[in-house]
Amino acid sequence: MTAAAVTARAPAKINLSLRVGPLRPDGYHTLATVFHAVHLDDQVTVTPVDGDAVTVAVSDEHGDPVPGVPVDESNLAVRAALRLREAAGLSGAGVHLAVRKVIPVAGGMAGGSADAAASLVACAELWDTGSSREHLASLAAMLGADVPFALRGGCAVGTGRGEHLEPLSMRAALHWVLAWSDTGLSTPSVFGALDRLRAGRPVPPPQIDQRLVTALERGLVGAVGMLVDNDLEEAALDLRPELATTLAAGRQAGARVGLVSGSGPTLVFLVDAQRASRVARAVAREPGVAGVRHVTGPAPGAALVA
Ligand code: ATP
Repeated sequence: MTAAAVTARAPAKINLSLRVGPLRPDGYHTLATVFHAVHLDDQVTVTPVDGDAVTVAVSDEHGDPVPGVPVDESNLAVRAALRLREAAGLSGAGVHLAVRKVIPVAGGMAGGSADAAASLVACAELWDTGSSREHLASLAAMLGADVPFALRGGCAVGTGRGEHLEPLSMRAALHWVLAWSDTGLSTPSVFGALDRLRAGRPVPPPQIDQRLVTALERGLVGAVGMLVDNDLEEAALDLRPELATTLAAGRQAGARVGLVSGSGPTLVFLVDAQRASRVARAVAREPGVAGVRHVTGPAPGAALVA
């Protein structure tokens, strides 16, 4: 029987390593990355409506509007629903999507991709499409490079543009303090800044440091802290020099390491659990920091909410 409304959740991601290769002729960069999903979820609730429209409303966890997120067909959750509906050959099947956003917008944590993954899972259930996880993953890859990981969750090495995933089994739970900014950064502008900074420098094909993979698999948190890296950090700091001060404040307050998440401007600090609140208080005082949160990872991928 078809449910009246279905809710699914999907996690934000951190890149524990993000290595960026040369610019490809298609305008993208080849990446080698280690994705790590954290317990910071967006939720998408889908409700059937008459006709064939797919509509969306976006609010934060208090029910307030969220600036910067489109509410038309360019919203990734809407694109996901349309893509699944087409693949399933359904006609009619109008649906309203209510997105509850917790993941910072344009924050380098792939919140739009999480919404797309949650939308796929919720709509597949609502429409009873019987889609396998593999089928949803193939639709996810068409929607964006980070969507397959939002669907899968956990920890994984990503190659290509990030869509080819090799799961990692992780022993330890990692504690993170996240600090997000009052203004987002556009991902293309950060890649553009990196290309300018690298002009004239040779750029080798990107490769993941196997020592990081081993440290994650063995649960060696200290080694993980020494091996995380992000090639986009230089570019994000070039565009937002004040982020460097916040990174220094977190390290000074006892974080093992701080780094820019993906294309930024969200900053992530690896901490020991007992130091989390001290680090959070220190970075919350920095100018431009709009919010802080203590989360753990790895977190599971997109799933129905009971
Ligand atoms: P990227 O995944 O490109 O690295 P990001 O993680 O920095 O991006 P997102 O929150 O995913 O940031 O949003 C990037 C842009 O995508 C936003 O500025 C917004 O215009 C657009 N967008 C489309 N759909 C959504 C959505 N459901 N939630 C957030 N942003 C969306």
